[in-house]
Amino acid sequence: MYRTESDGLVFYQFESFDSNLVNHAIYTRLGGVSEGHFSALNLGGTNGDNPEHVRENHIKLFKNFGMPFKSRFDVWQVHGDTIHFADSPRPETQKHQPGDGIFTQNPDVTLIMRFADCVPLIIHDPVKKVVGLVHAGWQGTLIEVGAAAINAAVRKYGCDPATMRVGIGPSICGKCYQIGADVKAKFFKKWGDKAAEFINETTQGYYLDLWAANEWILRSAGIQYLEQSHLCTAENLHEWYSYRKEKGLTGRFAAAISLTPKGKHG
Ligand SMILES: [Zn+2]
Repeated sequence: MYRTESDGLVFYQFESFDSNLVNHAIYTRLGGVSEGHFSALNLGGTNGDNPEHVRENHIKLFKNFGMPFKSRFDVWQVHGDTIHFADSPRPETQKHQPGDGIFTQNPDVTLIMRFADCVPLIIHDPVKKVVGLVHAGWQGTLIEVGAAAINAAVRKYGCDPATMRVGIGPSICGKCYQIGADVKAKFFKKWGDKAAEFINETTQGYYLDLWAANEWILRSAGIQYLEQSHLCTAENLHEWYSYRKEKGLTGRFAAAISLTPKGKHG
């Protein structure tokens, strides 16, 4: 990924996404107005931060992204595998629907999701002109929400996974993400011996590699163009929020994507 600083905000972008066709950014925690544990660009509205600060951060982000705040479509992320198709933005007065995958073909919609260790999947199909975001923590990985999202885009838009681009964004790495024996057992029950490729046993305990697991899930769903960020949230608290490392007292950073290239919104 490459890193850009602009107007006090700092974001990362995947090299494999064509900026003439799509606008996307994963914003670091730098440059917002939230304070303390939430410092500074917290986009999470349900973690105890001042709602006025969160709203101001959203407005800053959209200004930087080059799309109107009212283009926003987001969901209530619940660690499931429900996929939504956004034909229009979500009015601020309308409640969030629960879901962990969102797609749109409308260039006037900006998809946005919130993260702090869970895996962001950023999706672009340049052929069918579709963009998407997926939220995959260990629960979403176990139920293969990444594949559910790809399959949903194939059914809804006629996408060919072979032409789709997927980026695996900043999230907790396999060296940092310790899991309990109960979680380990769930993966072995679901995937059999394959789970051993993603779970490392050390004298300290079990460690789950969400990056490798999601790459395998996506490749199994037919994805060929795949880029890993290799950025670990828990090891880079100066730029990212980490729910695990900060023991739950933290904010959420945002991934945003739109079919309108940056600077092209009328
Ligand atoms: Zn790490």
